[in-house]
Amino acid sequence: MIRVENLRHVYKSSSGDKVALDGINFSIEAGEFVAIIGTNGSGKSTLAKHFNALLLPTDGKIFINGLDTSQEENIWRVRENVGMVFQNPDSEIVAAIVEDDVAFGLENLGIEPKKIRERVDLALDAVNMTDYKKFAPSKLSGGQKQRIAIAGVIAMQTKIIVFDEPTAMLDPQGRREVLDMVKRLHAQGKTIIYITHFMEEAAQAQRVFVMESGKIIRDGTPREIFTDVKEMKRLGFNVPVAAELAERLRRKGFKLPKKILTAEELAEALRKNG
Ligand code: ADP
Ligand code: MG
Repeated sequence: MIRVENLRHVYKSSSGDKVALDGINFSIEAGEFVAIIGTNGSGKSTLAKHFNALLLPTDGKIFINGLDTSQEENIWRVRENVGMVFQNPDSEIVAAIVEDDVAFGLENLGIEPKKIRERVDLALDAVNMTDYKKFAPSKLSGGQKQRIAIAGVIAMQTKIIVFDEPTAMLDPQGRREVLDMVKRLHAQGKTIIYITHFMEEAAQAQRVFVMESGKIIRDGTPREIFTDVKEMKRLGFNVPVAAELAERLRRKGFKLPKKILTAEELAEALRKNG
């Protein structure tokens, strides 16, 4: 479980201080799938980096399974609990051969070579990349590279995985591959924190945080968040296409239920309308 209490983060620089997070409070239970959306500069990446102590709070606290990230002696245990996948697959790849790349984090933990090979094989299998084990990562597509990065995290066997816009640089096929992987990891019991600017992706989480100017301004289910179409537009967000279309049809006089989120629900409501 993750607990965040009055989290504040200030970047200090010669050109002045920048308050990137302020007054953030929430808990995430083990096994939850939380999506985070927010405009550029709203603090999403800054928050993400607090989950594995890449950044420490200026004020307030964050606890990962009870471990206070600001205590130096907890850092390695925090990182055993939290894996990270970032936006740019190229900047995450560190080795010249896929299997070495997946093994990298494990080698740093001092695990014996035979165990490492077993875990790497399992992780590559989990992301359907076994055939590419001996490949140079530079030969892979963006989606495949992200799956290798995800394999690296799977091999670490962390309970929590934080994704910071992992699909932002991918084509639609690559985005689907990565999101399918994320959903599978959630189904296997991992706690998922998934930052995205694709509303259709966020709609597949169990819970959505909306960030603005360093604060979480909404926390609800995708249905609560995305069927409030007017409010989301006012805040500067799109909503999933079915929710948007339902809203437009209502304005044209169609009698539709209030909380339509998916294409299937919209199709069913229209069928009932005759
Ligand atoms: P997001 O991921 O939502 O786009 P970030 O967390 O990257 O937002 O940034 C939040 C705010 O903090 C922005 O105003 C950004 O310019 C600022 N910021 C981010 N990183 C730094 C840094 N290393 N030094 C100073 N300011 C930063
Ligand atoms: Mg960011």
